[in-house]
Amino acid sequence: MIPVSAPLIGEEELENVVDCIKRGEISGTVKDDYIEKFESCVCQQCGKKYGVATTSGTTALALAVASLNIKSGDEVIVPAFTNIATAFAAVYVGAKPVFVDSEALTWNIDPNKIEEKITSATKAIIPVHIYGHPADMDSIMKMAKKHNIYVIEDAAEAQGATYKDKAVGGIGHIGCFSFYANKLITTGEGGMVVTDDIDIAEKARLLRNLAFSSREKFLHKYIGYNFRMTNLQAAIGVAQMKRLETHCNMKRQIAQKYHDRLSKVPKLQLPVEMAWAKNVYWMYGVVLRQETPTRDDIRTKLEAKGIETRNFFRPLHRQPAFLDLGISSKEDSLPVSELLGQRGFYLPSGPALSDTQIDFICDALKECLDVN
Ligand SMILES: *Cc1c(COP(=O)(O)O)cnc(C)c1O
Repeated sequence: MIPVSAPLIGEEELENVVDCIKRGEISGTVKDDYIEKFESCVCQQCGKKYGVATTSGTTALALAVASLNIKSGDEVIVPAFTNIATAFAAVYVGAKPVFVDSEALTWNIDPNKIEEKITSATKAIIPVHIYGHPADMDSIMKMAKKHNIYVIEDAAEAQGATYKDKAVGGIGHIGCFSFYANKLITTGEGGMVVTDDIDIAEKARLLRNLAFSSREKFLHKYIGYNFRMTNLQAAIGVAQMKRLETHCNMKRQIAQKYHDRLSKVPKLQLPVEMAWAKNVYWMYGVVLRQETPTRDDIRTKLEAKGIETRNFFRPLHRQPAFLDLGISSKEDSLPVSELLGQRGFYLPSGPALSDTQIDFICDALKECLDVN
């Protein structure tokens, strides 16, 4: 089976982990070790001052929302087309995620549809750089400024991508990364909150560690969490950060090869790269332009040939978890995300994919679509 993704992990990762184990520095509370090094590597890459490493991208988003003191009664604007973790971050603190439709071309949150969703309860927008393509950050930042709300970038799928030459994750008030095994770099599981705001960073550090206060350890002013990344994970992350640029370039080359082979297939919509963007093509997605053959038929045929694919996100306003809570309703209509959810899927996109495999995948896909 050609997998949709497989991580690349090298000798240095191994050596760093062995080093932690030999010294017994394995937890998430070690001082001046891989955790701080990893935080500063990630910050340096995205141009932020402070990094707070966490257990996952999901907990990074949750920590970001909690650090802004967002709570019950507040609203947080998120795209309907994203990993559900983006919206869960709001729900965990009792706030309401408010869903916005996507742009048809980039699949990212449509900036023209945000303002109509802003109310006096809106505290933050979480744009997501979907599948590696940056969201339209200038429009989003401008709107946030006008309405005095925070922007938390969910850069889980786009570490290394740039928007007008600025690294994603470094543009909003807060950026969040994931280091899950299939992301641009990995620590197995892991995440990070980055910001230039010292108060937000300190609050995030405090809440990450059960809100143990620094003055009197067992005195707690806030409801905290244990979202601490272990030193073992950070040790992997320090070595992985050296590979980020290479991984991004590999993904970009794979995307170019797919593009060369598929751009003349009228039945497929392919990923784009806007003039102001550097797309890192985390996953190479395609969207069917017509109903037949159906996505399921195509995916089944590809699977029979040993090609793993995955459906695009199912839009969040249609998720039972949110319908049951009354966060969304059956009548809500966000047509672009719905179409993407029905007709989109992604092809194998692991950085180690070979030319022969790409040829094989594209030939198989064309055969399913009756293209010679
Ligand atoms: C992967 C991902 C997350 C969640 O990260 P985990 O590390 O898996 O918890 C959040 N948002 C987006 C857009 C993602 O792709």
